[in-house]
Amino acid sequence: MVAATIPQATAKRLPIYYRYLNILADSGKKRVSSTELAEAVKVDSATIRRDFSYFGALGKRGYGYDVESLLEFFKKTLNQDKLTNVALIGVGNLGHALLNFNFHKSNNVRISAAFDINEEITGTIQSGVPIYPMSDMKEQLTVQQIEVVILTVPSSVAQKVTDELTEVGVKGILNFTPLRITVPETVRVQNVDLTNELQTLVYFLDHFGPGK
Ligand code: ATP
Repeated sequence: MVAATIPQATAKRLPIYYRYLNILADSGKKRVSSTELAEAVKVDSATIRRDFSYFGALGKRGYGYDVESLLEFFKKTLNQDKLTNVALIGVGNLGHALLNFNFHKSNNVRISAAFDINEEITGTIQSGVPIYPMSDMKEQLTVQQIEVVILTVPSSVAQKVTDELTEVGVKGILNFTPLRITVPETVRVQNVDLTNELQTLVYFLDHFGPGK
């Protein structure tokens, strides 16, 4: 109910708030002011107060926000209680790194299956995750009801693999390939082009220096 009425810009900041509040809770802090939060998450305090007003009357004047109850609220809104199983397609250098990483800082997403064509690794378990051959992909995604996929295959096969993914009802693709994949409207794609990001950073440093 509440989540549906939150503006998109506010919703986008939720994970940032959530992450920081977890740090506060871990360090034993019971309450936090909007000014403190503003400093930590680099969002101005007026925006924070407005954002938080959408979550109900959680702030008290002179007291700040109760860390515990904010966390409870965010957990529900962000669906942190629900575990989402994610598949990784393409266990090359980048795929391996992601398998190793396996989002261990997050308790709501984890890679539970991986796929590759390389027979040297299929049938093995890497970082606790089974690697299946591509010929099993459609079946396994269906059986395991996996709807979110990380794509780390070579660009040359990215579209072909994407087409197969959409055929079995995958709803979200985190695309690490530089290729802009084409998907039907039922699928959401998030592009992460690391080379491009790095080049952008270098470009900005060269042209404008570290200042904003
Ligand atoms: P990267 O660092 O991008 O992961 P890499 O050099 O380790 O690159 P790539 O050639 O990009 O390896 O391939 C990534 C992985 O995708 C490899 O493990 C490869 O076996 C796998 N792969 C190649 N073709 C396919 C395919 N058609 N379907 C699934 N996996 C594939």
